[in-house]
Amino acid sequence: MKSDFKKIIEWLTYILKCPICGYRYNLEQTKLIDSRENKPQVGANLLVHTDCERCKSSVVFSIAIDGPEIFSVGMVTDLTSIDTTRFKNTRALSTDDVLAMHQFLKVFDGDFRVALKA
Ligand SMILES: [Zn+2]
Repeated sequence: MKSDFKKIIEWLTYILKCPICGYRYNLEQTKLIDSRENKPQVGANLLVHTDCERCKSSVVFSIAIDGPEIFSVGMVTDLTSIDTTRFKNTRALSTDDVLAMHQFLKVFDGDFRVALKA
């Protein structure tokens, strides 16, 4: 199955279209972020990142392949394909992170120049 992923991606670029402007992706703008086989030979889950050449929006597609059936869910993202690689191996946000952000925003005066310097 793994060796078929490239073929699957090639094939998917024929059917995946930008949900924003309808432009058809080409292979250079389509990148496999993650893949998992769930059932040997027949099933797999793929996470694919695409950059639209025409409208410059990025979409992450979650694609589930189950035998002859293929399900895809697209989600508009502001992550670039470099970001997806960068964040792939970082730890997930915790409740402490959310609380810290909440505390920060509570007293934040809106001056990003000062905040980003710190
Ligand atoms: Zn587009």
